[in-house]
Amino acid sequence: NVRVRFAPSPTGPLHIGGARSALFNFLLARRFGGQFIVRIEDTDLERSSLESEKNILDSLEWLGITWDEGIRVGGPHAPYRQTERLSIYTEAAEKLLASGQAYRCYCSEEELEAQRQAFIDKGEMPRYAGNCRCLSPEDEARYQAEGRKPVIRFRVPDEGAVTVDDLVRGQVSFDCAGIGDFIIVKSDGIPTYNFAVVLDDASMDITHVIRGEEHLSNTPRQLLIYDALGLSRPKFAHVSLILGKDRTKMSKRHGSTSVVAYQSQGYLPEALVNFLVLLGWSPEGEEEIFTLDELISRFSLDRVAKNPAVFDSDKLNYINGVYIRKAEIDRLIELALPHLREAGYLAEALDDGQKQKVRWMMQAVQEKISYMAQVADFAPLFFGDEVTFESDEAKAVLAEEQVPLVLNAFLQKITDGRAIEPDSVKALLKEVTKETKQGGKKVFMPIRIALTGQQHGPDLNYIIAALGRESVVARVRHSAA
Ligand code: GLU
Repeated sequence: NVRVRFAPSPTGPLHIGGARSALFNFLLARRFGGQFIVRIEDTDLERSSLESEKNILDSLEWLGITWDEGIRVGGPHAPYRQTERLSIYTEAAEKLLASGQAYRCYCSEEELEAQRQAFIDKGEMPRYAGNCRCLSPEDEARYQAEGRKPVIRFRVPDEGAVTVDDLVRGQVSFDCAGIGDFIIVKSDGIPTYNFAVVLDDASMDITHVIRGEEHLSNTPRQLLIYDALGLSRPKFAHVSLILGKDRTKMSKRHGSTSVVAYQSQGYLPEALVNFLVLLGWSPEGEEEIFTLDELISRFSLDRVAKNPAVFDSDKLNYINGVYIRKAEIDRLIELALPHLREAGYLAEALDDGQKQKVRWMMQAVQEKISYMAQVADFAPLFFGDEVTFESDEAKAVLAEEQVPLVLNAFLQKITDGRAIEPDSVKALLKEVTKETKQGGKKVFMPIRIALTGQQHGPDLNYIIAALGRESVVARVRHSAA
């Protein structure tokens, strides 16, 4: 049985990297009919918030990543928030204290800082110097009388190595000597990540820990705790970092890093999922566009790459565009409305005419956009009575000699009372071509430029239908003036 989990710290919105980890876990669980658990690692009391937790869970749900046990849905291992599971950690810490595998440390901040500095001065990796490793009961009593509040440290063996057998990275060994006795419970009684995560993974029977490479160096500490408590180790898979195009760690400089930012720019969740899975996993064969169900039947850890994944926003835009082309028009309209409202083109309530206009607009731009926020860039073509010319070259087309003839014929037909909709507009333009005895381009280009100021753009039939009779007439007059 496969039991996997995603265990975010609610210290900010769900990031691309976290979403990718969640997705890999989810896919593995679904592929093998296992369980996917989502729990919350909120032991950093200062940085954790319910607001971030909500953002993370909402983003997962938006992406279509569902979970079988955990926060929001409950399950046999509830509660799923670490701050609600403190007794589990305290009990395990007591056990380690009793067996001597952990001890209380009373060093103050200043003392620790001095120890750190001493290692740095010797050119060594700073770590805990071991001052409290062998305190007598009298030493402890004295420290307590001084009012010092102890932390609990794990006693790391002085020698030997810990080897992580990683499904992605192979065997990675860490010398115990470099690890140093690390804190498992802070002075306020709150466990550290490395301690709590082990107890949660063990008590929830997690079989595979799939997470970001940044946690690889934590893994030897976690393995030591598994062994000390006699718990069986899960399998580990550390997925590569996500880099920006310049090959430095993905950060705000490279663009948005939170899932919610992509949601609000109008990326489709299935496109983002498709893009995310390719950050580190590669399918067999050339095809790169997959539905979630297709991914579930294909995903495996042995095609997860060791080398870093590069976040390529052009590729994201390409993939999102593919999904936009495939999407139902009603869905696109719903997604476009907030962007048109925000840019001031539409009010909250729409009449039937506006609804039809937006539909035609979206049918025209569906082919053109990579994400929904771009509808606002196209909106000037569809709203208002004025035309801005993109270039002198475009304007010069209107000076060609057939243009007055063409525009007059066009105006006459557009005002002859017929219904203005894409099909009738198509017929109308044909009539103009026939009557003026002009080649297609000599008709369509000046009309397009007179209406939009541009030589290229979305389907003209839809633009004309969406503008409607009055705006068409006003725009032609404005351009011809
Ligand atoms: N809370 C950790 C994080 O958000 C989870 C690490 C893990 O999966 O073990 O990075």
